[in-house]
Amino acid sequence: LSCPYHHLLLGGEERSYLCAPMMALGNIIGVFHLTWRQPEAFAADKETILSQFADQVALALGNLHALQVAQRQAITDGLTGLYNFRFFQGHLHKEIARAQRKGEKLSILMLDIDHFKEFNDKYGHDVGDEVLRALALTLPKILRPADLVARYGGEEFVIMLPDTDPEGARRVGEKLRETLSEIKIKSDTGVDLSITVSIGGATFPEHGTSAPEIVKAADIALYKSKGEGRNRLTLYGN
Ligand code: GH3
Ligand code: MG
Ligand code: MG
Repeated sequence: LSCPYHHLLLGGEERSYLCAPMMALGNIIGVFHLTWRQPEAFAADKETILSQFADQVALALGNLHALQVAQRQAITDGLTGLYNFRFFQGHLHKEIARAQRKGEKLSILMLDIDHFKEFNDKYGHDVGDEVLRALALTLPKILRPADLVARYGGEEFVIMLPDTDPEGARRVGEKLRETLSEIKIKSDTGVDLSITVSIGGATFPEHGTSAPEIVKAADIALYKSKGEGRNRLTLYGN
């Protein structure tokens, strides 16, 4: 690959012109352009120098891009594209510290799909995956931009609601529960399938003062929602 032009007319004036492709792992990721006022300024050796320079820059940019992709993958869940729990935990830790400084409350909601094993067994794992992706797309639409949603694992999700007291958490949780029960996924036979979820909620500082304590409290509340019949929301201590 090379750029054959050594001269160029720019605004009616003849200029010297050189360019070299920037290649990273066999792909062109950009092109280096060099123009100079005087015509005939670039001898053939300049082409080699520019090309070597472009290779160096392309290598550095390629490495940076690969690093960014790896960093993104390390915090993302592959199936749903949501943040993973590791990222959530780190973020929750920082947000709790911030809430403490500002004297604010912060709530989390833990959400688990009801009878999802049966759902998979009945309609197939691929349809189950489709439900998880649909749910991941729906959750952020209901939440505020400052809220953070992550996949906790399997068919469980966790949501952080900054500056939210138990009453606020209840409102959001009920809205989530209702909206998610309205998701429709087509089965192989064309039937619309739906799910229900159980939710547990906990609030900083009343239900715990560290990230693990808050997560644990929400998990206990979720367990209570399951025990009391599923498709419901329980706040810790209620
Ligand atoms: P419960 O109402 O008590 O939550 O019942 P459940 O069947 O949802 O709970 P259980 O923990 O027994 O099973 C969770 C199921 O979620 C098991 C597994 O088949 C399914 N599951 C977990 N991860 C995935 C996934 O990535 N894709 C699909 N399709 N299913 C998953
Ligand atoms: Mg589960
Ligand atoms: Mg479940």
